[in-house]
Amino acid sequence: MRRSLSLGIILAAFHLSTFAQNDKVINFLFPVKTDGIENKVTSVFGESRGDHFHNGMDIASTGEPVLAMAEGKILYSRFGEDDPFGEEFGTGNSVWLDHGNGTYSSYYHLKDGRFPGLLEERLVAGGEKIAYTGNTGHSSGAHLHFVLLKDFGKTIQDPMKVLPIVDDESPPVIGNLLIHHDEYKYSQVNDGDNINISKAFPVTVGIQDAGKKPGQRRGVSQIQISLNGQLLKKASFSNLHYEKGEWKNSEGFPFSELYFKDQYLVGHLDFRNGENVIKVLAWDFRQNLTEKTFTFYVSRIR
Ligand SMILES: [Zn+2]
Repeated sequence: MRRSLSLGIILAAFHLSTFAQNDKVINFLFPVKTDGIENKVTSVFGESRGDHFHNGMDIASTGEPVLAMAEGKILYSRFGEDDPFGEEFGTGNSVWLDHGNGTYSSYYHLKDGRFPGLLEERLVAGGEKIAYTGNTGHSSGAHLHFVLLKDFGKTIQDPMKVLPIVDDESPPVIGNLLIHHDEYKYSQVNDGDNINISKAFPVTVGIQDAGKKPGQRRGVSQIQISLNGQLLKKASFSNLHYEKGEWKNSEGFPFSELYFKDQYLVGHLDFRNGENVIKVLAWDFRQNLTEKTFTFYVSRIR
């Protein structure tokens, strides 16, 4: 009896310690120096990249130190020098860190020249310099693309959710509503338009989150779209998970159900005869909200 009780205490103690370890809160830091970071964030998590999601965050930076986002072990690094005659990877020079419990961070497009010690199996401190920002791989303009992975890489998280707050007082801008006739042809639908339509077509809306800096065209964090008072979709871009061969957002939408031709996909809509109303709500990463309603009149034709 006594024996089994003490065993019970040992097991409970063991359980508590693993639990504490799994629940360890990691404090993440920006992987580049943070002065004016709100102007340097050029792309956010979950944006469209033609046929796939943007799986990280982009910070415009040239030749600045790249800092480990948290303490971690070096998992992997790849630099052009490893295969100087080979084709360059899309990621360019990259470093991956393992922060424990299946959490990884990765850093792309780094400047040539691997830091000494990056091939060793060792611990890197949070904030330790691991590379310089560059423009290697598929990159137009020097920037750091960084990714935060969980569940040993099966989930990708919006890094913004764990990093210190980035300012943004400007709400998203909702632009054009388009009806796509085919891959290349579309017509724009303006509020109050009369349109003739024969069948269902893909309908998209352009949404951008412009920050303080002119020319910033970032994606949004959440959208909600309804047609004639009926909710069509509510989708957020806070994480992606790999399921049945493709990446899906938190609500289970794959890329093809969220984007079309680099615009946000409203749906493949078969409008009713007469008045139709599409209402779009978009939130940016600071929860600034923009709402826009398109009201137009449809004549069904054969
Ligand atoms: Zn990127």
